[in-house]
Amino acid sequence: MDLTTDIRYIKGVGEKKAKLLNKLGLFTIGDLISYFPRAYQDRTEIKKISELELEAAVCIEATLTGTPRLNHIRRQLNILKFQVSDGTGILDVTYFNQPWMKDRLKAGETYVIYGKVSGNLLRREMVNPAIEPLDSLPRLTRRIKPVYRLTAGVGQQFISDAIERCLKLIDNNLPEPLPESIRQKNNLAHARFAYENIHNPSSKFALLAARKRFIFEELFTLTLGLRLMGSSDISIGKKIPAPPLDDFTQHLPFSLTSAQKRTIQEVFDDMNSGRSMSRLVQGDVGSGKTIVAAAASWAVATIGHQTAFMAPTEILATQHYESLEPLFAKYGFRTGLLTGQMTAKQKREIRELIKSGYYQLVIGTHALITDNVEFQSLGLVITDEQHRFGVRQRAALTAKGDIPHTLVMSATPIPRTLALILYGDLDISVIDELPPGRKHIDTYAVDESKRERVYKFIRRLVSEGRQVFIVCPLVDDPEGLDDGRKAVEAYAKQLSDEVFSDLRVGFIHGRLKQKDKDEVMRNFADSELDILVSTTVIEVGINVPNASLMVVENAERFGLSQLHQLRGRVGRGSHKSYCILMSDSKSEANLARLKIMTKTSDGFVISAEDLKLRGPGDFFGDRQHGLPKLKIADLADDAEILKEASDAAIELIDRDPELLLPENRALRTAVFEMIEKFRS
Ligand code: ADP
Ligand code: MG
Repeated sequence: MDLTTDIRYIKGVGEKKAKLLNKLGLFTIGDLISYFPRAYQDRTEIKKISELELEAAVCIEATLTGTPRLNHIRRQLNILKFQVSDGTGILDVTYFNQPWMKDRLKAGETYVIYGKVSGNLLRREMVNPAIEPLDSLPRLTRRIKPVYRLTAGVGQQFISDAIERCLKLIDNNLPEPLPESIRQKNNLAHARFAYENIHNPSSKFALLAARKRFIFEELFTLTLGLRLMGSSDISIGKKIPAPPLDDFTQHLPFSLTSAQKRTIQEVFDDMNSGRSMSRLVQGDVGSGKTIVAAAASWAVATIGHQTAFMAPTEILATQHYESLEPLFAKYGFRTGLLTGQMTAKQKREIRELIKSGYYQLVIGTHALITDNVEFQSLGLVITDEQHRFGVRQRAALTAKGDIPHTLVMSATPIPRTLALILYGDLDISVIDELPPGRKHIDTYAVDESKRERVYKFIRRLVSEGRQVFIVCPLVDDPEGLDDGRKAVEAYAKQLSDEVFSDLRVGFIHGRLKQKDKDEVMRNFADSELDILVSTTVIEVGINVPNASLMVVENAERFGLSQLHQLRGRVGRGSHKSYCILMSDSKSEANLARLKIMTKTSDGFVISAEDLKLRGPGDFFGDRQHGLPKLKIADLADDAEILKEASDAAIELIDRDPELLLPENRALRTAVFEMIEKFRS
């Protein structure tokens, strides 16, 4: 018997139950003992009957005052009633449809009873409480009881018993992945203690200790996994001497903000250090990250190397090309664009020019690294809006052999703690300052009753020459359910037929062909449409300075960070801009969230709120970040343990970069299991 033993061989489980447990993702003994409770019920508190408060769930220790009476009210309904006393008072106990209890209970015996107190001021009662004799082992009462996620046919007690049996079976074979020194230094419980107490806590303190150990273990192996996967980052890089920044700024139409200057200096220092740079530039939408990318590629070009600049969409790549090509020309450098839409012949030509070193800067989608594009001398890789690429692509990138410097730009203001684990050894620069003269985007949260006024407002802005985004949560209703979600195509049609028949209304969503998407975006950017109805495909980076109103339908369905990104699509020109969040939600929580949007435009405040309210899983949506699903740790709540785990991981990697020392062998296995999860 070991961790890999199939659960059907456990006594009391068998084929049939094993199938049910499989549904919960449990196949082996290892799976079962790591099936942590989703919650706990604290049944340790024992109260006197005289002190019972209504609604409280507590234990009492009391004696049956007489023989239980069983009443058959009708078929399907019988009631068992009795009273217990503990000397301070009397409690009524009632069981519905559990006639067998009658034979288990004896007058004059003392029991421990756990349940929720009901009744009234004069009479206290418990209905269907847990009950066991005072001289029995505590199972249902007097303990902290685990609560597991269940499936039909599998009960709490069954899971508890099976886990208890497993822990006995592998008594001496329970692996301890944490090296002794790390366990001691961080005050972490032993594996055995932790497994026993996470499932069957002997006290609150023991439960805390068990939880802390597993949270640490999970974050520790996660951090190690990230570092091991990205370990080729830590390597020798091309030394790019830092040129004087003034040579760069002379051709700019504006002066840099001090945050931009600081960030560019950090980038220059990194590239000059002799090690390859891995830097994340975080800056709110509109903070001016593109110019940092431009400065970095300029520095690389001045000594004859090339830069690959990747954007998440073709439209964005094209926009970057259009703004950077003329700027680069002023320094005497050439910029190329490579997109999927080009003909095979065009692509071949561009690829030739990249290979020959004709272009100093090449802009494109991530096909730039995945397709077999060869560079003459690739010095720097920049990815814009990194969260769309994720950890895996980053690994693919560094696997290209010749290790270039990497610069990653993200508008998703990831809290530092999370960035630390997501990006491992990436250094971080924060552009925490917007260019001067930015106008505040007036933001309103309104309900259906204001719809007519919103339409009137749209009409007014369009008559002034502005353009409007309207964002809806879904393309169409998946099950034909009409729950009020605005479906893009249908809604666009309704608007253009009924409400704005004299205006030019277009739509765009992710299910259109790339070619059609690009064409619609192009039309909108060229002011050939007044109103663009869309899903969140327009979320990332696109620049339409003439758009001055963002309307979000069913706004409660979006995360705050997403709303922030959407809002960032307007206010990019000289016009006063607005954002209207439509929602008919009655939920206090939803309304509170939308309220935050009307109160602040600080992306960091918003993302911190978002993380608090929704958790990191939802924060990024759809696991875009590429992190495996965590079993027990919570990146938002466990920031402190994350810091400890991450420090310990760095220290360990310094000592044993590939975890080959004997004392790290079990850990190495655990880390590789974690890395497997990245790939699944
Ligand atoms: P983001 O950080 O969202 O990628 P961009 O780099 O697209 O932002 O910059 C947004 C706009 O601000 C662009 O039009 C850019 O030219 C302008 N901009 C950037 N830096 C400055 C600055 N220091 N002063 C004035 N305008 C700036
Ligand atoms: Mg940008």
